[in-house]
Amino acid sequence: MAAGGGSYEAVVIGSGYGGSVAAFRLAEAGVNVCLLEKGRRWEPQEFPSSVWQTLQTTRWHTPWGVFGNSNCLYQVHYQGTVIAFVAAGLGGGSLINGGVVLPTPARARRDPKWPQEWRETLWDRAEERARSMLQAEAAPSHGFHQDRVLDAVSGEIEDSCRDCVKLSIRFTRITDPASSTAFNVCNGCGNCFTGCPYNAKNSVDKNYIAAASKAGCTIITNCEARFVLPNFDYPHTTSKECEFDGQHMHRRWRIYLDETHFISADFVVVAAGVLGTTNLLLQSKIRGLAISDRLGHRFSCNGNSVAFVCGTHVATKGHSLTPKELKNTPMFDRPGPSITTSYTSSLGYTIQGAILANAFSFVFFKCIAHRGFWFGLLYGLWHNVKRLLRAKNSDSLIFNMMGHDAADGHIEFDLDRGLVKFFPPTDPLIPKKISTVERIAKRIGGQMFMPTLRNTTVHLLGGCPAGRIAKESVTNPNGQLFHALVHSNSSLPYLLAAGAEKNESVDSCDNKVHDGLYVCDGSIIPCAVGVNPSFTITTVAERYIISPNIRKKHGRDDETGMGEDLGDLCTLELVMDMGSAESRHGILKGRVGGKFKMCALETGLLHIVDGTVDMCVVNTRTPFSQYMYYKLLIVSETGAMYEMIGRKEMKPFLLGATAMTESRTLELEISQVSQNFNLGGLSESKKASILRGTVRVSYLALLKSVISMRGPRKCHFVSSLLLSILCTYFGPSPRSPPSPEVTYVESPGYPQHSEHIIATDDGAQISCWRWLPTANRTINDALNSGTSTCVLLLNGYSGESYTLPTEDDDLVCTLLNNGYEVWLLRMRLHFSVCTANPFSLDDIARFDLPAAFSGIAAVRGKQTPIHVVAHCIGGLTIHMALLGGYVPVPSVASLTCTNSSMFFDVTKLAMVKLFLPLIPISLKLLGANSVLGFSDSPSESWRHRLLKKISCLIPRVEHCTCKECELFSGIFGSAFWHENLTERLHAWLSKDTLVRLPACGFRQLRQICMAGNVVSSRGEDLYMPYIRRLALPTTYISGGRPLLVTPTTSERAHALMQHHHPEFRHVRHVVHGYGHSDLLIAERAPQDVFPLILDGISKSGRVADLGFVSVQPTDVQRRTWVIPPSQAIEFLLCLKIFVAIFILAIFLCCFW
Ligand SMILES: Cc1cc2nc3c(=O)[nH]c(=O)nc-3n(C[C@H](O)[C@H](O)[C@H](O)COP(=O)(O)OP(=O)(O)OC[C@H]3O[C@@H](n4cnc5c(N)ncnc54)[C@H](O)[C@@H]3O)c2cc1C
Ligand SMILES: [Zn+2]
Repeated sequence: MAAGGGSYEAVVIGSGYGGSVAAFRLAEAGVNVCLLEKGRRWEPQEFPSSVWQTLQTTRWHTPWGVFGNSNCLYQVHYQGTVIAFVAAGLGGGSLINGGVVLPTPARARRDPKWPQEWRETLWDRAEERARSMLQAEAAPSHGFHQDRVLDAVSGEIEDSCRDCVKLSIRFTRITDPASSTAFNVCNGCGNCFTGCPYNAKNSVDKNYIAAASKAGCTIITNCEARFVLPNFDYPHTTSKECEFDGQHMHRRWRIYLDETHFISADFVVVAAGVLGTTNLLLQSKIRGLAISDRLGHRFSCNGNSVAFVCGTHVATKGHSLTPKELKNTPMFDRPGPSITTSYTSSLGYTIQGAILANAFSFVFFKCIAHRGFWFGLLYGLWHNVKRLLRAKNSDSLIFNMMGHDAADGHIEFDLDRGLVKFFPPTDPLIPKKISTVERIAKRIGGQMFMPTLRNTTVHLLGGCPAGRIAKESVTNPNGQLFHALVHSNSSLPYLLAAGAEKNESVDSCDNKVHDGLYVCDGSIIPCAVGVNPSFTITTVAERYIISPNIRKKHGRDDETGMGEDLGDLCTLELVMDMGSAESRHGILKGRVGGKFKMCALETGLLHIVDGTVDMCVVNTRTPFSQYMYYKLLIVSETGAMYEMIGRKEMKPFLLGATAMTESRTLELEISQVSQNFNLGGLSESKKASILRGTVRVSYLALLKSVISMRGPRKCHFVSSLLLSILCTYFGPSPRSPPSPEVTYVESPGYPQHSEHIIATDDGAQISCWRWLPTANRTINDALNSGTSTCVLLLNGYSGESYTLPTEDDDLVCTLLNNGYEVWLLRMRLHFSVCTANPFSLDDIARFDLPAAFSGIAAVRGKQTPIHVVAHCIGGLTIHMALLGGYVPVPSVASLTCTNSSMFFDVTKLAMVKLFLPLIPISLKLLGANSVLGFSDSPSESWRHRLLKKISCLIPRVEHCTCKECELFSGIFGSAFWHENLTERLHAWLSKDTLVRLPACGFRQLRQICMAGNVVSSRGEDLYMPYIRRLALPTTYISGGRPLLVTPTTSERAHALMQHHHPEFRHVRHVVHGYGHSDLLIAERAPQDVFPLILDGISKSGRVADLGFVSVQPTDVQRRTWVIPPSQAIEFLLCLKIFVAIFILAIFLCCFW
């Protein structure tokens, strides 16, 4: 690699658990990323299978020197009192580990050293992501020998409980998530520790790294990074021009491969394992990089020691099998995976039985045991002879012990010898662990060998501990490296290049971080985990790697970011001159100046040079809400300019229960404006937004702003503001008179359709509308020759989302203009078709959809694959039809779903509604006729009227002035954000499409929501087991401002499809600012959403046929959607209101 020859937006060093997550998540986000690994790529058949081969691929790091090649698979570090084993190779430790996946114990998460930020809900989400990628499975329940042995003696482990061990090893035959090569099923040979020779282990090279490679990550193996330094050529002005230019050589960091050769990158993620990372950073530190003095501290061996028991009188099957032995050994008699049993004692340690691979030398292990070298050697040789003579081949077992050591060890660099030295932590549990193993050994009648070393460890942790402040830790909880404290005589160029300022005081630099330099592996874990740590490492990596620090540079955000940087690091000091307009509410309008500091944006102070505020904005589309708008132009000392739009929304949700939160919450959107910006032409010169998030103002700051008010009209200002807020929350509308009734006309030039009535197999009648493409001549020609592309649209529950005759553009017109032939199914749920006959969603999947496909095939003359675009229930039912085998998968060319998939995760508010038995009670109340008419009719029964009255009382996110809309959102929950819709469309939808609603589908919908995925009307899991049938390309689109359905619906589906059908293109989008059905009916949907749908249709296919296809990132930013803990009170309040309504409903039912 020539000097400066490689240039990437991001470089990840090391490919273990941490590095592979970083590489994949960055590549997935569209970042140009390179993964450097010092080891080589290992194929299953290449792993060592004899002691000799093992020795050939082992590197020894000893106090006397380093022996062996740098890319050897085994890296043994011997330091007098500790011997540590780590791996080098693409996949890191996962290549040769036992694959045990255990969740982080509560005890570790309660440790005072554990960062506070890792305790919240994001942790659970990160765990879920990690789990879905690692795909751990439980070992078959019949149990292997070590299970039986350990189970029999488990009483010897003090007050212990058996852990439910899952392994990243395949026991069932399914397709690999990323590479479409099939895994083999574990054959129980017991060779996990030398690398699975039968391709049954799901090591990270087969999941994360394969997916990263697919997403465009460059992988370089046999390449060792030595140190990282800032690029001196990098301009000190934070000119974003050079950061965004992928080809530009002036990247922020240099990753040196030797003294003169380097690769440059704007972001560096060091993930070289505990010893690798600490060594690399120590090397960088001695070259002047300002890193905290805590580097190398909080080193933990995870309380890891190993003991061996040989010559037992019970059959332990503790030896792995050679290929020849495997052939002659029936499955039930094989040793099984290396680790399958685990017992955790309440005293804080865990013991696992493990199998020694035959490619390891027993003699070596016995020689370092407490009985002395010669005894060990002789006993080991004799034991091996016995084993060779097949006198006994099942009489030994390894005990893998772990626990919560004090994590007070440290790693340092010996400058004289150029070697890394490490010192183990104190471990008060060692005597307990030894005595337990001794008792067990006695029970099974074996000779115990305990290494004389303090630790024999494969679980290294710490060295670059994460924490809140630089004085105590090396990285912040997001893994970003802290600056060392700045002193006037420190090496300035480095600090400058990394973003610190020359004249800053020591204190103000305290928690400053290096821009773009991260650590992401076991080394940031600041305490012992107590159990096998790979899952914890993966979770930590998943937890922070997509932090806005990295993403903001690329104009994206992700739910894991959740505006943490804004919350922590933003200070906004505004000076407002109110009363600039001469209207009734003129006092609430004004000009704004002040200062702004946001480390996520710029390290220096920013100044507001031009700004306006309007605290009383009314939007006629949402007359129930009131808005405050800030529009600020900000400049930095370096000359960079930003436009910041701040938006505060106040809506009378739950009778003002959210008032306090809303008055403190400001939604921010920051865009960069070009340097030669002219104050008059802000919008023209504006660039794409680079940061979005939520800022919460503290109560103290609110109070301060009230106290600091000056001027003769301050009382007028306060009373006007309070009045306006009171009107919003408790008045009929904020301040304007009710808007006049909106009229609408359906466009006379709307494309003509033909209607096809179709009879289903169960005797129902549904219909399909068909439009032929008009615009594109060539496509018309194609149609005449019978080859045009056909798109079938499936609506959500009852409503209409695709054909919107009041709008200039809708999805039907867009598809026609792009030359597609469009079919729109009006299934039995549709208001135009539904009858009083009860039905379930299963019926739609079983009868309506197959009938629609056959109907289209009959008209088109032959079976051409159809692209399906489905929304909400349409999406659920098409998944059910395909998974259930009712519609043959080859008849679907691609599947695009908005806010739906085989999963259906709903918002907390919707979940509360579903949890209460409102639906069963409503259906009971409706009786035989479960179709609810929206308009009041004299013929309507009292039951229907009662239910409608109750529905109007049910809390919803937005209130509406229109009766039908209000009723619909009462039953369903608000389905769209009103501000996204034109008023004419809102009027048309409410008057022309909200005609009647068949309620019978609710029962199964409730079951699906409660189960979290599609189930039958009886709640049976009839569909998900057939996920392998779903071999087709998919596009899942979610709204980024969730209503009803949350984005996890698409996230889970996308991950599942990538996992099971990597041979097809799968894309997921989260569209910022959209809720549920507004994805299809919003005024800006033709610009924001339809191109994504068209893209999903036109680029669908097999990955192999498409050439290189990267997994698309969410290309639009999204907001926080999880209810944060601070809103828990609102949530409880909402629960209370529900309960009250529920009781009221029952009361009315009983006494009516
Ligand atoms: C035999 C064995 C069994 C184990 N069993 C289990 C188990 O069952 N369950 C469990 O949870 N954990 C187990 N572990 C521990 C687990 O594998 C490690 O904790 C985990 O791999 C650590 O992940 P990491 O990302 O921190 O680093 P690693 O997985 O160690 O990856 C670091 C990578 O960086 C590379 N590297 C290092 N320096 C450089 C450099 N300068 N330039 C480029 N690349 C570099 C290395 O080659 C390596 O590939 C086991 C470990 C071993 C050795
Ligand atoms: Zn409405």
